[in-house]
Amino acid sequence: MGKNIKINNSEPCLCGSGQKFKDCCKAKMFTSTTRYSEDILNNPQRVNAILQNMMDKTDFKTCVYPDKSCCKLPIKNAHTLQNNGVLSAVSELEHVMVTDPLNKVRKGYITRKISKNKATTFYGFCEYHDSYLFKDIELKEYKNEIKQNFLFAYRVLAQEYHKKERVISSLQNCVKENPSILISPIMVENYRMMDLARKDIRELLDIFNTSYMNQNFDILYNYVYKFEKQCRFAVTTMYVPASTLDGEELVDIYSKEKDRLPSVFLTIIPVNDCSYLIMSCLKLDYAKVKKYFDDIEKLDENKLKRFLNWTLPTYSENIVLSPKLWESWSEKAKNQYERIVSGMGGDFEKMLNREFPFETYEDMEIALKTQLGIIDMNNVPQYDLFLVE
Ligand SMILES: [Zn+2]
Ligand SMILES: [Zn+2]
Repeated sequence: MGKNIKINNSEPCLCGSGQKFKDCCKAKMFTSTTRYSEDILNNPQRVNAILQNMMDKTDFKTCVYPDKSCCKLPIKNAHTLQNNGVLSAVSELEHVMVTDPLNKVRKGYITRKISKNKATTFYGFCEYHDSYLFKDIELKEYKNEIKQNFLFAYRVLAQEYHKKERVISSLQNCVKENPSILISPIMVENYRMMDLARKDIRELLDIFNTSYMNQNFDILYNYVYKFEKQCRFAVTTMYVPASTLDGEELVDIYSKEKDRLPSVFLTIIPVNDCSYLIMSCLKLDYAKVKKYFDDIEKLDENKLKRFLNWTLPTYSENIVLSPKLWESWSEKAKNQYERIVSGMGGDFEKMLNREFPFETYEDMEIALKTQLGIIDMNNVPQYDLFLVE
C-alpha cells in the first residue's frame, strides 16, 4: 500500500469523463460532501443495494471473439462452468450455492441458493460462439487434451475481462457521483490496481483470441491432477500468484511496471466418479511462476487439498457449492469461508464513507496476507471443500 496514490493533474480523471483530473474532479473532491447520509452508510442492506445497483448499471453485452462475421445474436448469458455436466453434478433440485460479497446483510450469510441456470453466467459471447467455441468441453468428456485445457482458461479469461471492465466503470461512476471519495488513498490505490489488471487482461485476451483464430492451442503449461472422488463443488478462476508457498515474493502485484503480470488459470470440475484440477499458465510466463508450480506439484493429496482450501476462496467468487456440502459445514466454518471470499472488498461501504475499512489492524493484516497469497500450510481451515459423503 501507499504507492500510486497521488493523482496527477494531467492524467485522465478517475471518474471516466475523459477530461484531465485538474479540470474535472480535483476541485469537487474537497467541496462536495458525501452523497450518502450516515443513515444509509450505517445500513448494510442499503449500502449493498447501492453497490449492487452500481454494478448492475455497468452490465454490457459483447462477444469477445474477434471475428464477428459468424456472430449470431442474441448475446447469451454464457456459463463459465458447464451447465449440464459440471453444474448438474453439484446441484440439488436444480439449485446450487454461490457466495457473493455484495449480498451482505446485517445478519445471515452471503452464500445463497440460486438456480443452476443463473450460476456463473456473464454476457461475453454471442449464441453462436458460446456453443461453437466451447463444444470440446461442453459436449466431450474431459480427457486432458491440449485444446480442452486451453478452452477452460479461455472462458474464465473472457469472464474476467467482462468483470474487470464492469468493476472499472462502477468505480468511475462511484467517483462521478461522489468525488470526495478520491481523498481516500485506499480508493485511489484500488482504482490503480484495477486499471493495471484490466490492461493485463486485455493483453491476455488478445493472445488467446489470436491463438484460437490460428487454431494454435498449444500455448499453455498445464498441471492436471485427478482426485479419485467426485467433489461437491466446482470452480474456475484466474489470478496472479504473488508468493511461493513458503511466502517468498514471486510477483510484485503492486508493481507499477508496464510488463504484464503472469496469471494462473485454475479449474476444478467433478466428472462422473472423480474430479480434475487443471492449473495452467502461458508457456510464455512459465519461467516467472515455475517455483509456484514446482511447489504445488510436489504436494501430496492432503496438502494439495489444504492449499486449495485456502487458495480458492481467496481468489474466486466463482465457486459453486452443492447445498449439501454447505449444510455440512459448522457455523464457524461457514463464517471463516465467507470472510476469506469477501477479502479486501468486504468493507467497501466503509471505504465509501472514508473510514478505515477494517475492524482491527489484525484483520487488515490477514486481508493483506490473503491478498498476497501467503498461506500458512500448517493451519487447517475450519471448512473443507473436498468433504464428500
Ligand atoms: Zn472527474
Ligand atoms: Zn460471436
